[in-house]
Amino acid sequence: MVKTNCEDLELDLVDLYNLFEPSENIILEHKEIEENNKITNLFTFRIDDEEKEYTFSYDIDEHLSDLRKKSLRKRMVKNQLYKILSENLNKTLPWGSLTGVRPTKLARDLIDYGEMKDYLVAEMLKRDYFVSPQKAELVANILRNQKCIIRNDNLIDLYINIPICPTRCIYCSFISSELVKIKDKVEKYIDTVIKEINAVKEIIKDRAYVVRSIYIGGGTPSVLSAKQLDRLLNEVNFLASEFTVECGRADTINEEKLDVLKEHGVSRISINPQTFCEATLKRIGRKQKNKEIIYAYQKALERDFVANMDFIAGLPGEKLGIFKRTINTAIELYPNNITVHTLSLKRGSNLFNQKDFPQNKDIEKMIDYAKDTLTQNGYKPYYLYRQKHQLGGLENVGYFRDGDVCIFNIDSMEEINTIIGIGANAISKRVYNIEKHIDRLPNVKFIEDYIARIDEMIEKKKEFFK
Ligand code: SF4
Repeated sequence: MVKTNCEDLELDLVDLYNLFEPSENIILEHKEIEENNKITNLFTFRIDDEEKEYTFSYDIDEHLSDLRKKSLRKRMVKNQLYKILSENLNKTLPWGSLTGVRPTKLARDLIDYGEMKDYLVAEMLKRDYFVSPQKAELVANILRNQKCIIRNDNLIDLYINIPICPTRCIYCSFISSELVKIKDKVEKYIDTVIKEINAVKEIIKDRAYVVRSIYIGGGTPSVLSAKQLDRLLNEVNFLASEFTVECGRADTINEEKLDVLKEHGVSRISINPQTFCEATLKRIGRKQKNKEIIYAYQKALERDFVANMDFIAGLPGEKLGIFKRTINTAIELYPNNITVHTLSLKRGSNLFNQKDFPQNKDIEKMIDYAKDTLTQNGYKPYYLYRQKHQLGGLENVGYFRDGDVCIFNIDSMEEINTIIGIGANAISKRVYNIEKHIDRLPNVKFIEDYIARIDEMIEKKKEFFK
């Protein structure tokens, strides 16, 4: 357990503490005391009857902005906690004291705002955040590969959410309904999304925004029928240099749907096997067969789509050998992008109660194997993010080959440009690059509420983008 008298630091400290997976008899207390422009931090580490105290102090630099003071303070306290836990538990973490979702964004912001030299990224992550040499180098490498980044407040990305899936995967933490449970609401949902798209067109016109990329995600948008996709895509007529539709479940893809996507200018699709082990697929609640994945992929190639495939390391029952076979098969298929996720184990999910997961050492070997093998076969990492409760405190990495990066993935992970979110549970983010500030506006989460409250959300959106 970790306790602190600083409410604003509590979440970060708890996250960092949990990443160490400490036993229940360990208690850590933190107190911050401010006096005469000096801040003192007291840490008490208890294990059974043993108690150790640690103190560190620093002077407040009055010349720094409030934002900078806040981020330095957070870093110093987290680093101190990291050192104490690392010393007492004799353990290091791959991402050191970093707990956030976007390590690459943190590094990019420090470079863009003049606080870090780009050629020193890896060194500074190791020195200032105790990041392991491999992960620090990975971040530096990704930043080098994100050449398409343009910070411009008039450039936007569009995200349209279709939170519907054929069945629910047991590891899923998204809000997504099974098709069979909401079949009678799908047409109405499409009508409502179209209504919001038309309101967004007005916003884009008024603000003279330029749409850079469009991403239809979910959920599984390809669960819609060819006719429904056609009706929706008729309205998504923006000029953008990239247009992606997630077709995550191979059992939802057929030639008719692929033709509809092509006719409407979709340039990229994502087919997500997650694993090529059919026993695992059954275990995690996905009905698809490998032959359906290969069929969908071949039909996509025939139509010249840029294709991504997602995989998950650490699925229940999978040992290193099975994961290696999946990565090897993916490389034989040679999609333009491969995204390798580390399983995120949400507390309370059915999956959480299962026992058959790889140990930390094995999950690290899986992620290292994916990185090494993909790199040897011409793939390069280009975006990265972390989630809570990922096995081994690891990460998700997107790889590309031959220049085919997904602009939307980079923009959304790095929070470089404004994103207008459309649909239930979609979040709009307005990025102010000069002011270094982001405002967020979420739509309501569930399909039924979204349909009922669309007018209210459109009004809020107009106000938000004024
Ligand atoms: S396909 Fe994706 S969104 Fe749908 S249930 Fe599975 S993990 Fe969740």
